[in-house]
Amino acid sequence: MRYHSHIVTSLCLGAAAAAHTSLSFTASYTAGVVIGSLLPDIDEPKSYVGRRSMGMSNKVKEAFGHRGMTHSLVVWGIIALVISWESSSLFASGFVLGYLFHILEDFFSVQGVPLFWPFTAKRFKIPIYRTGNLVEKSLFYAAFALLVYIGAKEQLFFEWWRSLALFR
Ligand SMILES: [Zn+2]
Repeated sequence: MRYHSHIVTSLCLGAAAAAHTSLSFTASYTAGVVIGSLLPDIDEPKSYVGRRSMGMSNKVKEAFGHRGMTHSLVVWGIIALVISWESSSLFASGFVLGYLFHILEDFFSVQGVPLFWPFTAKRFKIPIYRTGNLVEKSLFYAAFALLVYIGAKEQLFFEWWRSLALFR
């Protein structure tokens, strides 16, 4: 999945999560979701984060391969534990969720993800789309429309705008 698809589908899921939990759809929450939804692809030098990682992604890819350890639920669990131990901020919650959403989104790609690495390198998947194909593009627009719908219905955009206003 391309990075803009990850951002939009993760924001859509993040909006749904905020609408159904006590999480507030603030600027820091959405920033956390966006950054968390991009970070797992640090293992691909050609990805959006990879191109901005100053060579780090080459090392990660060399060591573990693309869609390796950074796409594991086990690794996500450890990151989530450490982060929630360190911070209970909305940014941290958004980050942990965004990272999880990325793994979920790649789970629906034909390549799949090694959900239980390092216990098994087996890739799990429900193959629905191929990176950049028409299905992915349709998912992008569907998620975008759903994000606008949830945001309007649950007054999340108002909440988001108000959180920005607090900084002024
Ligand atoms: Zn990925």
